[in-house]
Amino acid sequence: MRIGVVGGGQLGQMLGEAAEDLGMTCLFVDPSESPPAASAGEVIRAAYDDLQALETLESSADVITYEFENVPVDALNRLAGSTPLYPPPAALEKAQDRKLEKALFVELGIPVPDHRAVGSPEALDAAVAALGLPLVLKTRRFGYDGKGQAVIREPADVEAAWRTLSPAPLIAEAWVPFDYEVSIIGARNTKGEIVTWPLSRNAHREGILRVAAADAADGPMHELASDYVGRLLEHLDYVGVLTLELFVAGESLLANEFAPRVHNSGHWTIEGSETSQFANHLRAITGQPLGPTATIAWPGMVNLIGSIPDAARELDDDRLYLHDYGKTPREGRKLGHITCVAESAEERQRLLVQMDRL
Ligand code: AMP
Repeated sequence: MRIGVVGGGQLGQMLGEAAEDLGMTCLFVDPSESPPAASAGEVIRAAYDDLQALETLESSADVITYEFENVPVDALNRLAGSTPLYPPPAALEKAQDRKLEKALFVELGIPVPDHRAVGSPEALDAAVAALGLPLVLKTRRFGYDGKGQAVIREPADVEAAWRTLSPAPLIAEAWVPFDYEVSIIGARNTKGEIVTWPLSRNAHREGILRVAAADAADGPMHELASDYVGRLLEHLDYVGVLTLELFVAGESLLANEFAPRVHNSGHWTIEGSETSQFANHLRAITGQPLGPTATIAWPGMVNLIGSIPDAARELDDDRLYLHDYGKTPREGRKLGHITCVAESAEERQRLLVQMDRL
């Protein structure tokens, strides 16, 4: 089986590694000089919307997928359709625009923070009046890792936030005083079979995911989140892995956003689950039965951002696994992660704190 993948970042690299384990090969399209996925498959160096490159994928792969959220939907829709393309571009279209995404959540009965689309200073004033302060102003498109957003805490912040983010179409969201953040990753295969992993509890700093740890697989919170992700998967006639990010506030869950792809908060599934998110994505899109998603011991993950410390390279502990994406160091850039698989929740907590301080 040959998998065509649009995007060749670290998610592509880890897909490629899972593909090798499953006896599949990957062919990536990525414009960068030395994309991480080059270590795990062949790369066509071209823009994500380069029609010729996409047509090469179509003619030489058995199925096409993507690992990058900002793939131009138009380019995918221009393909002839002779090779299956999963997840469906309609899912990508919704995930690329926070307004469409929120409307979909609402349509499916998935609770979201109160919000207003904002296209002018007057509309922003109206949103402030309606939602109260603080609120979060976000660009509708192309935001990631906390970029393209501003928190408005007091009336004096309104003008600066508008100046920073306009003229892009914006959305204002009520501030959610959440207890913590979680994500749930689900997979659906071509036959409609669905699995979910346990919730991941996620801690962010400066808008970037730092630490993630698997929660228990049972309990009302997991049941509710599974129900929500199941609604999305069914409604979109989705094939592949989908990640739903949620705020936990008391007993309730509010959807923040979804990603139509494998996700950073699921990297602990590589060593910490019976089947990783990458393996199940490949199984899903190639029509295979999905693998079991039970956790192995107590898994968690710490992102390595900006640099990979020498101490991370020198780790000699069979509970810890370093993943180096082979990227050039740059401030704020995700360069790798360390997965830990501990014997107890307490041991995991200790290890995650240690790894986060390396
Ligand atoms: P996002 O790009 O939407 O995932 O936002 C990045 C991070 O900002 C989230 O993981 C939250 O920590 C925080 N955040 C986003 N939206 C809200 C909100 N409406 N209320 C409180 N915090 C938020």
